[in-house]
Amino acid sequence: MVERIKYIFSDEFLSSGHHPLGSHLRATLLRDGERHGSVPLSIIAAFDAKINSGCKVINPSVDQDPILAMSYVMKAAAKLTDYIVVSPHVASLRRKNPYPPAIVEALDTHGESIKVEAVYIQCATSGEEVVDPVILDISSGRYYLDVIAEKLGLKDGSQLIISRTFGKTPSGFECRVYSAIPKLNPSDKSSKAYGKRPADEEDQSSHFKTPWNAKASSACGQDIHGDAIVAAVGYSWRSNDIEHDDVTLKSFYRICCGMSPNGIYKFSRQALIAATLPFSFTTKSNWRGPLPREMLSIFCRQQQLAEPVFTISTSPVKPLSETLRSFKKLKDSESNDGNNQCVNEYAGSDDSFNHYNSKDEEELPVLESGYRCGVKILSKSLQDLVLDCSPGSFYEKESHAIQNAALKALTWFGSLFDDLDADPEQPRCYTKGELNWMFTRNVMIKGKFPSSKRYEEPAYDESKTMDMDRKPKRVQTIPNGSLVSISYSVSVEVEADFWGRTGKCLRELIESNEEIEFEVGVGSMNPHLESVVTQMSVGQYACFITNMPAEGLVLADANDTARTRSLLSKLAAGLEYNVHLLGVKGPTEKRVESVFFKPQLSKQRVGYAVKLIKESSAASTLVDFGCGSGSLLESLLEVPTSLQTIVGVDISEKALARAAKMVDSKLNKGACNLKTIRLYDGSILEFDSRLHGIDIATCLEVIERMEEDEAFQFGKTVLTLSRPKLLIVSTPNYEYNKILHKSSLYHSKDKSISQRSKFRSHEHKFEWTRAQFNHWASKLAKSHNYSVEFSGVGGSGNVDPGFASQIAVFKRKSFTEVKKVSTQPYKVIWEWTRAQGDKKN
Ligand code: SAH
Repeated sequence: MVERIKYIFSDEFLSSGHHPLGSHLRATLLRDGERHGSVPLSIIAAFDAKINSGCKVINPSVDQDPILAMSYVMKAAAKLTDYIVVSPHVASLRRKNPYPPAIVEALDTHGESIKVEAVYIQCATSGEEVVDPVILDISSGRYYLDVIAEKLGLKDGSQLIISRTFGKTPSGFECRVYSAIPKLNPSDKSSKAYGKRPADEEDQSSHFKTPWNAKASSACGQDIHGDAIVAAVGYSWRSNDIEHDDVTLKSFYRICCGMSPNGIYKFSRQALIAATLPFSFTTKSNWRGPLPREMLSIFCRQQQLAEPVFTISTSPVKPLSETLRSFKKLKDSESNDGNNQCVNEYAGSDDSFNHYNSKDEEELPVLESGYRCGVKILSKSLQDLVLDCSPGSFYEKESHAIQNAALKALTWFGSLFDDLDADPEQPRCYTKGELNWMFTRNVMIKGKFPSSKRYEEPAYDESKTMDMDRKPKRVQTIPNGSLVSISYSVSVEVEADFWGRTGKCLRELIESNEEIEFEVGVGSMNPHLESVVTQMSVGQYACFITNMPAEGLVLADANDTARTRSLLSKLAAGLEYNVHLLGVKGPTEKRVESVFFKPQLSKQRVGYAVKLIKESSAASTLVDFGCGSGSLLESLLEVPTSLQTIVGVDISEKALARAAKMVDSKLNKGACNLKTIRLYDGSILEFDSRLHGIDIATCLEVIERMEEDEAFQFGKTVLTLSRPKLLIVSTPNYEYNKILHKSSLYHSKDKSISQRSKFRSHEHKFEWTRAQFNHWASKLAKSHNYSVEFSGVGGSGNVDPGFASQIAVFKRKSFTEVKKVSTQPYKVIWEWTRAQGDKKN
């Protein structure tokens, strides 16, 4: 460092190239009087990479503490008594011998005069810092640091400390925070007092004369005391001229917002007011931008933290009998008044957010095996452990475990930033009871825009105007887990009184979105907005007012910051939201089932079929009609059976591709005796002669996807032309839906929701009661000389409403030779035969 400082003050350095530090040196030579050629200590550490890394070697915490770096520079310079004059009281260095006049004269001193917009953050004696725009008037030949120092009431630039660069202005110019070197209180002269983040108010006032500047500190990630200026101005490697960009209030608040996890999320959704960081990662629908894992990386980079370290562990899947827990009825969330716990209805999401809201100690089944993931965050410089987050929950998918662990860490960090980007009135997690209460207090339905006729229902009208004294009965008609699509706009509104006097309605649009999709129930939207939306019908408009969120958030979003600011300073009544519900997609069948059934209903179905297949020992061929992604075929690859040939048929190329990939990866691992595996692309309504005389046929959760008459046709074709010894058919039991629908997860009280949405999936064309299924199967069995028995999985067959998934097992009573039809409409998509070793064809 000593050598480097000596070089920095050499003739050679001054006249060479465009080193930013060189430009600073030149600027100090333009100063008059005693400050001529006096170089602020702070810039040497801040603008020379070699000095900076030298300081880091001595002590890695210089990153957080610019004053420490300055003290090292001073110590090093003190060893150069022949060359350099150290002035500790003015925190600057100067060359002992003046530069040769020829060099100084050769310097280009004619910079232009510029005006730069910056932001002034004034520490208030009590309460929040005040943020105002400020103009830096840098006239030709003036050193810009002196201009900044003067604005802060300091004598000159050497009294400044300069933060690291942090956020960028819209045109990509990096900002720094400038503030005064804090003065220590006379009572505490220990150098350690510098750069220590105050643990509490008292601690802070005991070390420094000036208060800690929370806004400036959180913006740049270093400790700033006293008033500060945020500016994008300085020298670069490109030229000797000063470069600059305006830091407007808006860009400052956007930078601040982008520093917090919640803010990063808000930006990624382009919905600063409407969106909030979800508390659970369920599907990708809430993540148009980076997923939690990537967001955590972005956040760590910004905060000078090391890349997050994830650790995955798995737990073996327990035998069915052990994991199969009796289904416990979920409480109807409506009967739930004001219990102040958090709801997260998706099993696998965990911890504090996952206490199911219930009085009777009923609980959701929770995964007891699968993937579990923890995450550790270390500081970059010191490798100190900053956060060790090890959620206890298991997830079925590894990627979900990772995303949820990242999200936990983000939420934790987010709580540190809450004052800027969260409305303190809005809890991060909530129950419906809690929301209703908040709704009454803060949200006022002002009336509705004309809604489309189809959905106009008298029952809904009572919500038209809300009587604030009466506790309204609000019904969430859109269940959690649904995907809703809305368009909305948010404006700042000034109190009615105020309009009265001026005769003008003051309102400023600050955010709008033509179409945004989100999943209900995971906190990805502002709770007010979500609460209103989930009570709407498709096509309907709503308008409501909430109280103001943090000013910074509004300004970060405003189109005309000055105007919005003046509105806010008046009698801002709140934010007015206008929402239009464009569409709703119900929670997917799979998601609902994964909450109710452990193991998943689909796994139980496959398990049931495999058991029957194993028992029928003389069978050698099997066809799975509507094999989908091959879940049954997969299980048959894993267990030894008498089967030699298995065939899957489906009309979905995508599903077949997944099935092929899965089978291919499992082929040589299993204990099966299989000789041939084949996948056909075709409709099971058509017969293919290659399926003639097959021993076993299965058709799990497929018939409900066709029209009812087609389901009869399918049964007839199979039993007439394939004539398997055993046919297993499963389909949802419609009667069981009332249990699924009772939970808030699948809550649909709104009569306007069409019949079809009462089914478990919008892809189902019908769902049969036990009697309807019985009629279908018995009729088929009788006319084709089969016996049929009924069973099922999920729930119990003995009590109403029966199994969740009903199963008919057809057994051939006699073998009768049928006429062979020669038709081969199916297309072979993938095939494997065990020949010459284990070669695939
Ligand atoms: N049996 C699988 C998949 C059930 S999903 C399982 O239990 O996991 C229903 C499947 O039936 C879908 O993959 C769909 O493409 C398929 N399917 C629906 N109608 C069909 C038809 N007419 N012919 C063939 N496959 C059909």
